[in-house]
Amino acid sequence: MKEALQYSETEGRNFSREELVTLLSLTDADEIAALFKEAFDCKIRTRGDKVYLRGLIEISNICRKNCLYCGLRHSNISVRRYELDDETVLKEAGFAYDAGYGSVVIQGGERRDGEFISRIESLLRGIKKKGNIGITLSLGEQTDETYRRWFEAGAHRYLLRIESSDRNLYARIHPDNNLHSFDERLACLESLKKNGYKVGTGVMIGLPFQTFENLADDLLFFKETGVDMVGMGPYLEHDMTPLYEYRNLLMSGHERLLLSLKMVALLRLMMPDINIAATTAMQVLDPYGREKAIMAGANVLMPNMTDPDNRENYQIYNNKPGINDDAEITKSKIIENLESFGIRIGWNEWGDARPVDNRQ
Ligand code: SAH
Ligand code: SF4
Repeated sequence: MKEALQYSETEGRNFSREELVTLLSLTDADEIAALFKEAFDCKIRTRGDKVYLRGLIEISNICRKNCLYCGLRHSNISVRRYELDDETVLKEAGFAYDAGYGSVVIQGGERRDGEFISRIESLLRGIKKKGNIGITLSLGEQTDETYRRWFEAGAHRYLLRIESSDRNLYARIHPDNNLHSFDERLACLESLKKNGYKVGTGVMIGLPFQTFENLADDLLFFKETGVDMVGMGPYLEHDMTPLYEYRNLLMSGHERLLLSLKMVALLRLMMPDINIAATTAMQVLDPYGREKAIMAGANVLMPNMTDPDNRENYQIYNNKPGINDDAEITKSKIIENLESFGIRIGWNEWGDARPVDNRQ
């Protein structure tokens, strides 16, 4: 990493695929620490030293899809399905606003029925009435028309992970039908961009069958598509999913976390001014996994605000952390953890990657 700063800070580093594979394979502790330090310093120069918080509302675990890795998949009949009522969603959004989070994320299983689409639209308008709060949606693949309606109702960011930018790997972790199409996912990312959203995507790291070359290509994909945000984290097993069968192919949890941190650091160097999330999945493998990601270049964190009754039913992977905590406890634990690492919080800030018009 000696040639630091021999690149334009705004453009970021242009690593080749081979260089990325080499860096992802680093085993020397000093070299890894130097990579993380360089990424952290890059973030401080380009995005500043603050971390932005997005209060997470897990609105529903009802999903029409059957992704082979996810505990919420339609065919998992052991899940008690729920949908938060409007009052609860507005209460949680109010908590985020009062807590100074600046932003909320509404995430849930994928549904395309008219009732759901209209409900989200009216909830967005309801949340906007509470104050100048940024809203991110993460509700899967929708039609161009739905994305447009939700944008007009007040959502301004959307998270839709590509899961893997390699279409063959994508095919191996999804059922073979037109509900799970790689091309459709790419088209959705295009549609989100066209409709004016700040677009976030991401991948799972340490999937069975995944290679370092796949991960290098994922990083190059983020750069080529020019996304505004990336949320990526370790793949974690769920015992009620088909992919669980391949758990013997997985790296250890420690290795998956380390690889995730390297992905964060490399992406920060490649795309210095975007938002990169320190994801909850990192916290599953290490209680300080998210703080470590922040020290390796991440700058966004999503405290969960779902009440404990429903948290346990929103388990996309096993061992979800903080399952018995409520929004208040989650908040105090996060503040304590961040303070112990000397990390500053951007209270009441949207924390967008590039300037937006801050529309109400
Ligand atoms: N239904 C929406 C949002 C909820 S799932 C969607 O699919 O976009 C959000 C993310 O959880 C997915 O994009 C996926 O990357 C991640 N996820 C699902 N199962 C996982 C697992 N077993 N391990 C790690 N991440 C997982
Ligand atoms: Fe549904 Fe999202 Fe899970 Fe796929 S990853 S099964 S779309 S909740």
